[in-house]
Amino acid sequence: MIDGYLPYGRQQIEEDDVAAVAAALREPLITDGPGVSAFERAVADYLGARHVVALATGTAALHAAAFAAGVGPGDECVVPAMTFAASANCVLYLGGRPRFADIDPSTRNLDAAAAAGAVSERTRAMVTVSFAGLPAEIEPLRGSGLPVIEDACHALGGIRAGRPVGGPGGADITCFSLHPVKSMTTGEGGLAVTEDDQLARRLRLFRSHGISRDQLHPEPWEGSWYYEMKELGFNYRITDFQCALGRSQLRHLDGWVSRRGELARLYQQLLGGEDRIELPPPAQAGDRHAYHLFVIRILAGREPRRAIFEGLRGAGIGVQVHYIPVYRLPYYRDVLGYPQDECPNTEMLYAGSISLPLFPAMEEADVERVVRELSRLLDEHV
Ligand SMILES: *Cc1c(COP(=O)(O)O)cnc(C)c1O
Repeated sequence: MIDGYLPYGRQQIEEDDVAAVAAALREPLITDGPGVSAFERAVADYLGARHVVALATGTAALHAAAFAAGVGPGDECVVPAMTFAASANCVLYLGGRPRFADIDPSTRNLDAAAAAGAVSERTRAMVTVSFAGLPAEIEPLRGSGLPVIEDACHALGGIRAGRPVGGPGGADITCFSLHPVKSMTTGEGGLAVTEDDQLARRLRLFRSHGISRDQLHPEPWEGSWYYEMKELGFNYRITDFQCALGRSQLRHLDGWVSRRGELARLYQQLLGGEDRIELPPPAQAGDRHAYHLFVIRILAGREPRRAIFEGLRGAGIGVQVHYIPVYRLPYYRDVLGYPQDECPNTEMLYAGSISLPLFPAMEEADVERVVRELSRLLDEHV
């Protein structure tokens, strides 16, 4: 059992992870070396995917995905508001404008009808989020014919219709984060995954300044030093020693995701008879929930939620709220002037949500402690 403060999530680092990083630091190249493509191939094998591009962060992966999908100045992208700001910021970075669409309360993922309703002649792509690790349905978003980017930062290790999230049959580009609270980590890091050769080429170009060493047009007097910058890219590279950590972590991923599932089932079981809260929706048959988060909703709404949240924090339980709807963030609300009243299901979830601690090193006694404190606070405040 974890003594003292129980965070909502934290990384799992094993001895073999430490050894893998130490070995990578002794290699001649610690960035831009063969460790990056070795990690990309390992992830591609795991997912059954054609192209995997590893980047500096999950946010960089989303930025690269929006670029690869062709988002530019004046373009719009449909995005759910029940997400981390980065899902929408990637559109702003490119001079585009996110259009927020509501979630389906039964999955907490983007509602396909709401998304279709938010499409205009300016829309360039759909961004969908597999919230908390529940694989988003992609097919219902295909009606518009627009490219679909899945922000799967919560869903590495998840399965949709029998296939890994990020594998074939999913979104046009799937993005993962390798931040320490996610399913596995490289410290900071991200992945962009696609089956499409052209999208993969643009993702790689964007990762490294837009500089290319193929299809070149040198002057006759220019030699083999020659390169071209063809697009305005960034330095979004990840290091070889981070990738060594990633390869090592990947070997543990399935075990950790199933441990998260066991702990989530224990929460479901212990809280099953509690009618003052809504439990998170489980995965459909054929799917596997990655359980990055376990988000309950206090049905009594804002005031009791605040009191219960503060009470849990006071008891040393590191709860969080995922998420403040993106349009409520002052940059969106005040600087960009986003409307505040277009997503009632998002508002309903925000009014009551609390993320309970969930990470693989937790024991059953930790889950029982959280449930005990939660029940006490529900009795006190609802
Ligand atoms: C973590 C996260 C990101 C950003 O990932 P970073 O690796 O921290 O840049 C984006 N979207 C969602 C939904 C996330 O949870």
